Amino acid sequence: MSQIDSLPPLREVVERHGLTAQKSLGQNFLYDLNLTSRIARAAGPLEGEVIVEIGPGPGGLTRALLANGAGRVIAVERDRRCLPALAEIAAHYPGRLEVVEGDALTVDLVERLGGKPARIVANLPYNIGTPLLVGWLSLDPWPSWWTSLTLMFQREVAERIVATPEQRADYGRLAVLSNWRCETKILFDVPRSAFVPPPKITSAIVQLLPRQDPEPCDKRLLERITLAAFGQRRKMLRQSLKAVLAEPADWIEQASLAPTARAEEVPVSGFVRLANTLAERL
Ligand code: SAM
Repeated sequence: MSQIDSLPPLREVVERHGLTAQKSLGQNFLYDLNLTSRIARAAGPLEGEVIVEIGPGPGGLTRALLANGAGRVIAVERDRRCLPALAEIAAHYPGRLEVVEGDALTVDLVERLGGKPARIVANLPYNIGTPLLVGWLSLDPWPSWWTSLTLMFQREVAERIVATPEQRADYGRLAVLSNWRCETKILFDVPRSAFVPPPKITSAIVQLLPRQDPEPCDKRLLERITLAAFGQRRKMLRQSLKAVLAEPADWIEQASLAPTARAEEVPVSGFVRLANTLAERL
């Protein structure tokens, strides 16, 4: 029995169901239900909320979400071996846990939610964390069906999400997309020792809250510009943006930026101006 519910401890669940962690599925499990409760509570008041969890594994975070009052949890898991353990949790919380067997990159969540909003809370498999995030940030119309993201990433990915031009090495396309559409924050670190097996580096919980009115601009142009600019991040914009426009100097000045600036010095608002002034020229 654990401190947050009357289900067996996770170590026992993992052993009983033979859930040896598989590297190919990014499996590093959390056994400490106090820690998973802290992550669940970081997602805000959960009472009555619909939560989408990606990769529940043996269910440590799932149990914490339910024990902390989540109204309904939709958990998407690719590893069939985890389904019996998750079924035990579903039986303990009747009608509140729906387990979807499948690949989170392709599962249609909108249909399952029936048009209702949801929060996404997950200890993401490290190998698909960034593509999943980029997918959620790229949905249109904006704001989309999810109302918050509370996600565990490797610390270095977390730093790339929240970076500003002040943190030049980390600032790049992921930070521009994330901070254009969301307010982003690292909430706390999770040490390697919290996982079974321990990963190579520290992890961190990141929160992304969608901006209701991000500065309007064409997302595809923004992506094209940041791809070119950060593809040659040490070069001046007047050079790197030639990949977008043959003679970019006038356009860069029209966007109130110095043609000698480098991508890593340009704030999100600068990239938005570049996208909007480019739209006028096309
Ligand atoms: N939530 C559990 C925890 O905190 O202990 C497990 C987290 S583990 C880092 C990542 C989980 O994502 C694993 O259970 C793995 O099987 C699952 N997973 C990996 N790839 C997936 C995919 N494409 N779609 C859904 N789940 C996936």
